[in-house]
Amino acid sequence: IVYQSSWIPYTRDQLLEKIKRSMSERRFQHVLGVEETAIELAKRYGEDINMASLAALLHDYGKERSDASYLSLIEKHHCDYIKAYGNNIWHGLLGVELIRHELEVNNDYVLHAVQVHTTGAPHMTLLDKIIFVADYIEPHRHFPGVDTARLLAEQDLNAAVAYELKHTLLHLISENQPVYPLTLEAYNKWVAHI
Ligand code: GDP
Ligand code: FE
Ligand code: FE
Ligand code: FE
Repeated sequence: IVYQSSWIPYTRDQLLEKIKRSMSERRFQHVLGVEETAIELAKRYGEDINMASLAALLHDYGKERSDASYLSLIEKHHCDYIKAYGNNIWHGLLGVELIRHELEVNNDYVLHAVQVHTTGAPHMTLLDKIIFVADYIEPHRHFPGVDTARLLAEQDLNAAVAYELKHTLLHLISENQPVYPLTLEAYNKWVAHI
């Protein structure tokens, strides 16, 4: 795996150090699982494996930051509409700001995949879909339905995106959780692929 110096000024090994220090061991193992799965999907569907690796390693970088730090980012970027949704939504949509500044990442294709990894989006690039699905099916994930999601991911990436959106939405509603509008917009677009 090689990262171009225009994407990030660190090698994969140097980045791994930084990622490891920014999260629990358990989450770090999840991130490595997402990288492994994202590289497999990149090979299967014809994406650049180096970009797949980079987006996967970065995707949960902001997950363990305090609510207070996100609330100040929300102030700074005037995005009040996001305030009510909590860390689950903040760490992707705003996590990219931390990644851009603290890790000096400068590749919009990679950053977009990180940005929408939790919600999906109506328009998703190949890398967006790969990271969204890899996050859901990586080897450490265990939940009813994960085997179906893994099978779909091998056969039809769009169907895997649709499956994940449907089941995330069902889960959120069953738990009386608020649904971020982008998640709903993504579902409306991708439902045709179920
Ligand atoms: P993780 O960071 O590896 O745990 O995975 P994700 O970033 O994909 O998702 C984090 C959590 O956000 C999961 O529990 C999802 O069910 C939840 N989530 C996904 N979409 C939404 C949404 O629209 N609203 C809320 N409140 N949570 C969501
Ligand atoms: Fe996440
Ligand atoms: Fe996800
Ligand atoms: Fe994740």
